[in-house]
Amino acid sequence: MQTPTPVGSLSSDQADLKDMTRRLALDRYAPHAQAWDRDYAHFPDEERQVLADLDLLGIALPEEYGGSGRPLVDALIVIEELAKATPLAAFPVFEAATGPARVIELCGTEEQKAEHLPPVVQGRKTIAVAISEPDAGSAATDATVRGRVEGDELVISGTKRWCSGAGYAEQYLVYLRLGPEKGAAGLGAVLVDRDAEQLSFGEQEHLMGHRGVGSADMFFDDVRVPIERLIIPQGGFKHLFSVFSIERLGNATMSLALAQAALDRSARYVQERKQFGRAIAEFQMVQGTLADMIMQVDAARLLVHRAATNAGHGVPIPREASIAKCFSNETAKRVTDMAIQLHGGYGYSAEYDVERMHRDAHGWALAGGTPNMQRIRIASDYLERRFDQRS
Ligand SMILES: Cc1cc2nc3c(=O)[nH]c(=O)nc-3n(C[C@H](O)[C@H](O)[C@H](O)COP(=O)(O)OP(=O)(O)OC[C@H]3O[C@@H](n4cnc5c(N)ncnc54)[C@H](O)[C@@H]3O)c2cc1C
Repeated sequence: MQTPTPVGSLSSDQADLKDMTRRLALDRYAPHAQAWDRDYAHFPDEERQVLADLDLLGIALPEEYGGSGRPLVDALIVIEELAKATPLAAFPVFEAATGPARVIELCGTEEQKAEHLPPVVQGRKTIAVAISEPDAGSAATDATVRGRVEGDELVISGTKRWCSGAGYAEQYLVYLRLGPEKGAAGLGAVLVDRDAEQLSFGEQEHLMGHRGVGSADMFFDDVRVPIERLIIPQGGFKHLFSVFSIERLGNATMSLALAQAALDRSARYVQERKQFGRAIAEFQMVQGTLADMIMQVDAARLLVHRAATNAGHGVPIPREASIAKCFSNETAKRVTDMAIQLHGGYGYSAEYDVERMHRDAHGWALAGGTPNMQRIRIASDYLERRFDQRS
């Protein structure tokens, strides 16, 4: 039996994977990071194909559907290395290895998996997730987008908001209300094509960060989809949300990557920049700031890798995933902020990239459930009590 690799260290196979992805990211994507951010450019489809050809999109999906069937932690290693160059390059892997494709893998029928997973692995389709609505953000179970069954079709109506990839992704896993029951009991999820009739998209949002990923309102005006597209029937929301813990770790890894990249830039900069005739790294307060950054990034990585290692090929322990997400999100915001301070005026300029990382860090903290919502889960799980937010 293989000895499991201790949390925080990599097997030689994982070290090779990390090295290959790091070089790919540095050579191919880092040079575009600034311009893509400035221009709100979307990650080119040809580059998504490159990731597919390198078997990175199917890294965590089962071999029978064309994937590599590797454990979650391997996918997170890839996401981190790509996202250190730019989160845009990591986004297709994030969606395929930790996003809605995993919901289909873990909750879908054999027919649904056979139909919908190979196109993701092959880089022909990205599946985005549409949960949030204008009046249902943290209170996701207030979703009002509705699906009613008519013969062998589901007819969908309502508006989704903030979907990352809206307008670009070829397919959407849409959380919707399937019955009159309030809250989670009435909810399920269905897969909808971008070009479905009666589905339209609003203007692309101009966000503080997360640029190029795409975000837009989605208007469902009696969109008809075959009933076989129902991935989660009514009442399966609990299962759906436990699988969503995988996405939380993908999100935590994006934050970790931003923090690590900001730390790397800062470590370099403080040794190059001279003031008072000395490298600023020689000043103790600068060393103290750098040490705080190092400790926080280290801790975030350990928490993410603990949750992912314990998840193996399956679903993480929800509390571990929430701790990892909350801590990494907060770390990325703090560490990128410290990086701006250590860069002085240059940190405030787009040329040095750390301000982009700070803007992106805020986006990842909001996406996938805010740090506050993770704190509620963590405390509630620890105390083994449910805290109803409505009463
Ligand atoms: C960059 C980005 C990407 C996103 N991607 C997606 C996506 O792909 N798909 C998707 O469906 N959605 C996506 N979202 C939406 C995201 O999930 C929501 O923005 C998030 O859940 C918060 O909802 P809200 O914006 O409505 O804020 P609100 O829920 O209105 O929250 C506002 C503030 O109140 C706090 N708050 C709310 N309720 C409580 C409570 N009970 N206790 C303590 N504090 C509370 C929140 O923490 C927050 O600080 C994305 C958002 C962003 C910014």
